[in-house]
Amino acid sequence: TADVTSIQPKGPVLSGVKNVIAISSGKGGVGKSTVTANLALALSEAGAKVGVLDADIYGPSVPTMFNCENAQPGVTSVNGKNTIIPIEQYGIKLLSIGFLAPPQDAVVWRGPMASSALRQFITDTDWGELDYLLIDLPPGTGDIHLSLVQTASVTGAVVVTTPQKVALSDAMKGMNMFTSKSVNVPILGLVENMAYFTPAELPENKYYIFGQDGGKNMARRYEVPFIGEIPIVQSIREGGDCGVPVVMEDGNPAGDAFREIAKELA
Ligand code: ADP
Repeated sequence: TADVTSIQPKGPVLSGVKNVIAISSGKGGVGKSTVTANLALALSEAGAKVGVLDADIYGPSVPTMFNCENAQPGVTSVNGKNTIIPIEQYGIKLLSIGFLAPPQDAVVWRGPMASSALRQFITDTDWGELDYLLIDLPPGTGDIHLSLVQTASVTGAVVVTTPQKVALSDAMKGMNMFTSKSVNVPILGLVENMAYFTPAELPENKYYIFGQDGGKNMARRYEVPFIGEIPIVQSIREGGDCGVPVVMEDGNPAGDAFREIAKELA
């Protein structure tokens, strides 16, 4: 494992990165990491240079979703300072808290250590020139969110929710945190994931398993852009589990919902 604890901050932060985008959710399990991975690939497919920083200390998913579970970021010396080199997979630069701590050790990364690892992933990492750095945040509102906005200038946040009541009320808390005076990060848009399900044998039918239009209505109420509606699709789940996100599957229309979000952000 790379020894990143001894690295000191250097120079201007993320000066080669045009947009730092926080991907957040109130509740866990709503598809934040799935959106992050597929959005990164959709942006890259459209010609952008993209990095993903997986800061979800409670369940880092990037190593699995990008099929690089055993990868170890390198460390090099730049101007006499130790600098982390992100992994590169599918043309995306990646760093994950999961590369540093085996999943069973997740608990030791909570709190100050996780915040300090996040800062090093931002200030002591050679991200190079990027159009987008997507930050996959832990669910909720906590130390990591505050460390992020204290360390980097965040362009905006994308909030992912399912249409159900408990997810929406938590998403609302997240939006309130970003738009609070002290944090002051604009909401680029709300994404409604798991919006509906259409069985293959009934292609005209939409089943609103988690409720209908909850995200859309919330976006309207809070006057934030509604930038995507993603159905429940088996291949989206399979793509995440097997390390080949659905956007990479040629001809699979399930990727289009993520391409639409990429267009909204461009
Ligand atoms: P989070 O990052 O919010 O915890 P994940 O992205 O890990 O959520 O998603 C939770 C689970 O739901 C994963 O198994 C993922 O593959 C699955 N999933 C997410 N979005 C969809 C979707 N639109 N259709 C089918 N499965 C999905």
